[in-house]
Amino acid sequence: MYRISKSVSFCYGHRLLNYNGKCAHLHGHNARAVITLESVSLDACGMVEDFSVVKRLVREWLDREIDHTLLLHKDDPVLPVLQAAGERVKVTEENPTAENIARMIFDYVAGKGFPVTAVSLWETETSCASYRPEA
Ligand SMILES: [Zn+2]
Repeated sequence: MYRISKSVSFCYGHRLLNYNGKCAHLHGHNARAVITLESVSLDACGMVEDFSVVKRLVREWLDREIDHTLLLHKDDPVLPVLQAAGERVKVTEENPTAENIARMIFDYVAGKGFPVTAVSLWETETSCASYRPEA
């Protein structure tokens, strides 16, 4: 089995509902996503996938959906105010935790047909959440 990983950095804002801690307040993170792809065989160039292709795919989606954007739960009471003010907001069904952001990235990359097996989201230098589907 071959495995490659590509890192992409971005920043986002969020806050968590029903949470007792720092992330209950509006704030931002400089995050890094690590996208892992696996394949039992290599392409004609000897690669699982070209790193630059993975980077471009994820970068474009992040720029469009998450980078410099506030991720807020659909029930967050501050949502209407920020939307009315024209702020960049992405509404999420679940709390916008690192786990759920990793899952969002995973679902996008998988939906594009890439052999992604896991996505890790480094929310800080020392805190990382990962998503991989059950085997
Ligand atoms: Zn946070």
